[in-house]
Amino acid sequence: MKTLEQITSCLNGYDPEALDADLARAAILDFVRPVDAVETVPLRAALGRILAADVTSPIDVPGHDNSAMDGYAFAGSALAARAADAPLQLLLGATLHAGDAPAALPAPDRCLRIMTGAVMPAGCDTVVPQEFCELADTPEGRVMRVSPELSKQLKPGDNRRLRGEDLAAGSRALAAGRRLRPADLGLLASLGIAQVAVQRKLRVAFFSTGDELTPVGEPLAPGAIYDSNGTTLGAMLARLGVEALDYGNVGDDPALLEAALRRAAGEADAVITSGGVSVGEADFTKQVMARIGEVAFWKMSIRPGRPMAFGRIWADDARAGAGAVMFGLPGNPVAVMVTFYCFVRDALLTLAGEAVKPLPRFKLPLAAPVKKKPGRTEFQRVRLVAGEDGVLRAHLTGAQGSGILRSMSEADGLIVLAQHQGSLAAGDLVDVLPFEALV
Ligand code: AMP
Ligand code: MG
Repeated sequence: MKTLEQITSCLNGYDPEALDADLARAAILDFVRPVDAVETVPLRAALGRILAADVTSPIDVPGHDNSAMDGYAFAGSALAARAADAPLQLLLGATLHAGDAPAALPAPDRCLRIMTGAVMPAGCDTVVPQEFCELADTPEGRVMRVSPELSKQLKPGDNRRLRGEDLAAGSRALAAGRRLRPADLGLLASLGIAQVAVQRKLRVAFFSTGDELTPVGEPLAPGAIYDSNGTTLGAMLARLGVEALDYGNVGDDPALLEAALRRAAGEADAVITSGGVSVGEADFTKQVMARIGEVAFWKMSIRPGRPMAFGRIWADDARAGAGAVMFGLPGNPVAVMVTFYCFVRDALLTLAGEAVKPLPRFKLPLAAPVKKKPGRTEFQRVRLVAGEDGVLRAHLTGAQGSGILRSMSEADGLIVLAQHQGSLAAGDLVDVLPFEALV
């Protein structure tokens, strides 16, 4: 594992007072490595878990050539064998249902009634759908007949699914790093796989710092505020499917902070704090991190969420093992959310062993002009409302101060305005990060 210094050295030369958010993100993702711990769970308990190894199909799917239609199975060579412009006429034999044992065509001038999913009988390679056919009784027995016009539309091999065409035995069904969704579990079930190797859940400890903070449910003293970041962080972590360890609040005291961080480093793979990363008199996070680990401190050119500490801490001075990756987020409630989605989410998912895909963004027009100065990447809260023309437009939720959590709650998503971008006009297309995609 590289040291933080090796990784951040590539950022030397950039303005430490205004680090580009993409550079910080890249440095973080370069630093984190998946936690190496695997467990086996029953298939039904694997929803949302991250696959720890590729799954190879033990069988062909489908397991046999089979019929894609309800109809009649026959040898495709019969199509060429009949006289030009003659109907296709074949003596009818037994009926085959899905699940019946494999059968065989008695002779090439015969056909068998076949149902969707039934195994193709030996000697047959083609199925004619029943809508094409009429049945008639003749002195030779019952026959299936297809008119000359419809016969011309048939080719050998029609309406037959080939063995292994969905998935051949030995081929990869699912790749390591995939977060298992309902369709994936169904696919594994179709292969007869009852247990899967998944990454153990990532353990993430989190706490809020600040002498002014009061836990929810307790009376509020004059000058105090409720700790909302703890609740927000716990909820964001729950959506990522990690095991979140809630350490509550820690006061602005270096000794208390050190004790909480050392405990977290011993118990968790990653630690997230909020508050205390500015340069005020009560901001100790950076200094304590530096004492018990490695720290990179960045003032990023984003709004909201300027200062952030990132690094690694250890439980004791021996610094054995990988320690815990640490994110010291700012204290303002909106900044906590923005920095979490911008820098923390993908890093945690990478640590958890997931092959991370970037958050989906889509482009929508602005409903009204938006003021912005070039220089910082801005995240502004928007509601998405469809106009009478059916087009969704992004409406700002009003004041964008980084402490205003209500406007975050009212919003459907964030618009992301690039660093170099200046003010925008109504109708300009902007990148939207919808909240419902933030899982
Ligand atoms: P700080 O980064 O510690 O200077 O905090 C910045 C602002 O965010 C201050 O107004 C804090 O009171 C507020 N703040 C910090 N932590 C929390 C929290 N856990 N819940 C709500 N507000 C907070
Ligand atoms: Mg504080």
